[in-house]
Amino acid sequence: MPKDNVNHPEHYTKHPSGIECIEVTRHMGFNLGNAIKYIWRADLKENTMEDLEKAKWYINDEIKKRKGNNLTSPNTEFTCKKCGNKYEGYVYTGYCGFCTFTKQQNKRNRKNEKS
Ligand SMILES: [Zn+2]
Repeated sequence: MPKDNVNHPEHYTKHPSGIECIEVTRHMGFNLGNAIKYIWRADLKENTMEDLEKAKWYINDEIKKRKGNNLTSPNTEFTCKKCGNKYEGYVYTGYCGFCTFTKQQNKRNRKNEKS
């Protein structure tokens, strides 16, 4: 297979499981996915200790966020405070992506009406 450093860098496919890390992490939030990524590659690239420290940083940040938002249970389903739809994963604002987006749009529209 020819070298492809953008789509399939060598260390992505080097894991003994034969699985590419992203197949797992795309189902996770940013912090946990990154933590897994750094643990995954810790013994595949040369910066082992740095990778492990980074994994620790992302795990600590996730713990801080979950504690701060009272999301310490393993339940990953949330209900949007505005539209009431149910979604997978933790969302720290309490609003789904769609409602967050329309809220910002409305704010922008109001600002434009005034000027
Ligand atoms: Zn919503």
